[in-house]
Amino acid sequence: MDAAFFERLKTLNKRYVLFSELVDKGPDDHSYGFHFSAKDNLCTSNFQTRAGSRILEGYRPPFDATPVRRMREAGGFLLGKTNMDEFGFGTFSTNSAYGVPRNPFDTERSCGGSSGGAAAAACLLDGHVALGVSTGGSISCPASFCGVVGLTPTYGRVSRYGLVDYGNSLDKVGLLSRSSNALSKYFPIIAGPDPMDPTSCPQPQLNLGPVEIRSIAVPQEAMENIHPDVRTAFDRAIDTLRDSLSVSVEEVSIPSMKYALPAYYVLATSEASTNLARYCGMRFGAKGGDIALHFNDYFSRVRSANFGKEAKRRILLGTYSRMVGFRNRYYLKALAVRQTVIEDYGRVLKKHGMVATPTMPFVSPRFTDIERMKLIDMYRADFLTIPPNLAGLPHISVPCGYADSMPIGMQLVARHWDEAVLLSAAGSWESSFKYRFPEAIR
Ligand code: GLN
Repeated sequence: MDAAFFERLKTLNKRYVLFSELVDKGPDDHSYGFHFSAKDNLCTSNFQTRAGSRILEGYRPPFDATPVRRMREAGGFLLGKTNMDEFGFGTFSTNSAYGVPRNPFDTERSCGGSSGGAAAAACLLDGHVALGVSTGGSISCPASFCGVVGLTPTYGRVSRYGLVDYGNSLDKVGLLSRSSNALSKYFPIIAGPDPMDPTSCPQPQLNLGPVEIRSIAVPQEAMENIHPDVRTAFDRAIDTLRDSLSVSVEEVSIPSMKYALPAYYVLATSEASTNLARYCGMRFGAKGGDIALHFNDYFSRVRSANFGKEAKRRILLGTYSRMVGFRNRYYLKALAVRQTVIEDYGRVLKKHGMVATPTMPFVSPRFTDIERMKLIDMYRADFLTIPPNLAGLPHISVPCGYADSMPIGMQLVARHWDEAVLLSAAGSWESSFKYRFPEAIR
């Protein structure tokens, strides 16, 4: 991390728009062991924390989120805050108020979302580790689109203290990097209970090391509506796993997978709509208008001017599903679906150590194609990342092929608290499949 590194970083940031805020220079002392970045919805004391939203413009938290604090205490130097979809609402990082990150393999394409900047930083900076956050797939999706490894831990494994909430029952802080080795090194730093976060639970100890995996389940529901290139790469990856790693592969059925997506959008927007109520121009970030106005007018003015379109849509959707009269029809039903998804995965994972699917149904799309996409198709793109997120299950996305020079991802899901199984499997996978990276800076 010499002065030249920071100059290259600035140039890189101009081209790829990775960071919403970036350090101007390196540390004065050289005691730092590694560099890392934090998604902009993680509070940091020396940078603004805006979660990709204009409504948080100017907000400087007086503290570090627990995962950030732990990385710093372990000798990490925080390079900056990575660009993301506003509050995590999106799949392509195009809903970002501070710049849309560009894919390292092709700048005309998306990095995925919502941790798009994090995935691109992980891809472009050798030895870098990026803190990302997933609610319904925001680590897996960008990891897949940017050709890096992304680990989403079990819900409750990593503290959410200092995280700008999207959906409290779903949000998980995880890591992205070029290899599972790096993740194995840094994951123990951020994992573990935290008295500051009431949802970080007592948990089985993390014992990383080789774990033998005998059998993998592939749900048939995951293979519908997959682009043929993704299908080919995934089938080949499964063959490799079967042959070189001597795992047995069995096709199974997880019928509730198809209901996970609509249930997720009801639950996630319900939680988001209550969380966003705190941004009213009084406490954090953007202020606006005449403070002498009636509070309703003042709040509306600030919120109308500063929330993006997708945030507004989600406030409406979420408020609607929680309303008296609709609650039973939507919110409670979605909770019941969530329970079924948990039970279905539990049944399959009891017999098999892991579930494997492609991560995304297609390679990263061009921005021009995203503009033409229907909203429902954008939501649907997450149909493979949402089920494990809804069930709070740990999962990892690893590159498993390339088509059109773009990376393709495979997602492995393990039992609750079994991150060690995922990291071990990803490690073995890397010994038989070589990842490609477009450009390296050290
Ligand atoms: N694309 C999904 C959403 O918009 C998931 C994003 C996330 O995990 N934050 O909600």
